[in-house]
Amino acid sequence: MIIQLNDNVTKKEIEELIKIIEEKGLVANYVVGEKTSVLGVLGETNKIAIGEIESYEFVKKVILLQEPYKKASRSFHPEDTIIDINGIKIGGGNTVVMAGPCSVENREQIVSIAKSVKEAGAKILRGGAYKPRTSPYAFQGLELEGLELLKEARKETGMPIVSEIMSSDLIEKFVEDVDIIQVGARNMQNFDLLKKLGKTNKPILLKRGLSATIEELLMAAEYIMAGGNDKVILCERGIRTYETYTRNTLDISAIPVLKRLTHLPIITDPSHATGKYWLVNPLSKASIAAGADGLIIEVHNEPTKALCDGAQSLKPEKFKELMDELKILGSALNVKI
Ligand code: PEP
Ligand code: MN
Repeated sequence: MIIQLNDNVTKKEIEELIKIIEEKGLVANYVVGEKTSVLGVLGETNKIAIGEIESYEFVKKVILLQEPYKKASRSFHPEDTIIDINGIKIGGGNTVVMAGPCSVENREQIVSIAKSVKEAGAKILRGGAYKPRTSPYAFQGLELEGLELLKEARKETGMPIVSEIMSSDLIEKFVEDVDIIQVGARNMQNFDLLKKLGKTNKPILLKRGLSATIEELLMAAEYIMAGGNDKVILCERGIRTYETYTRNTLDISAIPVLKRLTHLPIITDPSHATGKYWLVNPLSKASIAAGADGLIIEVHNEPTKALCDGAQSLKPEKFKELMDELKILGSALNVKI
């Protein structure tokens, strides 16, 4: 961290600031130039609140040299993190496709979709039991019954399950029932939920918020990791832009950017990113080509009758086609899908 000081700063003021910094266990070096004077601060600078330093009248500017996230940063942990979900690895060259309906609707639906996506090559079954809907009058999910049905589908197929949590009251239940806990876009900055999930040992699928920057996504991951849980999978699921043709805009560049900034695995969700089933295939391929560690895709046996997100759901046969094409793409890129 570099603290640029005002030209008329006094010796007493500099000493006062150095004392505050040193009390936090950091080292401060005073450098006087011809036109400007600065304090170079070394150590765990995230212990200092920038606002606190900037509130001193004799401080001109504070420049951060390190990222505000630490555990999520690649400089802290250079190797890719590989997360093991019941023997299925994700990250570090292990590519995983998760697929299933937006929401669990009934036993037959979830079991038949689970069987068909497994057959096509998906490794993890998705299905919402608690749904974050814009309208309170829309289908809200089968809740506890939905979790039970997901467990039945897991039993029938052997596929691990991922499902979204919306309230920290249900953490114990989710820890017991699911293999990956999903934090949806709308809860990416629910810090209470993130802190509590940090105290669990479950893999967390953390989706990027609708208007969140890459740094905000990494800070949300840091909340979970700061609590001791480093099993975080990031998910780029499209962000809000001025474009209205698609539901969101898939930020493909976030994939290589995140690969550079963090060691955590990163997958994309081309279903929520686009809102249109026919865009899922090209954007899945684009994601893998850009280096994503996996995908999460909505599949429904009867999209026209889906209780949620039918327009962006692939039919099982279209999903199979996509998986076959991804396998060919994967062999060209030397990644196993
Ligand atoms: C979902 O995966 O069903 C979902 C609601 O996703 P998001 O949080 O990305 O909107
Ligand atoms: Mn959905």
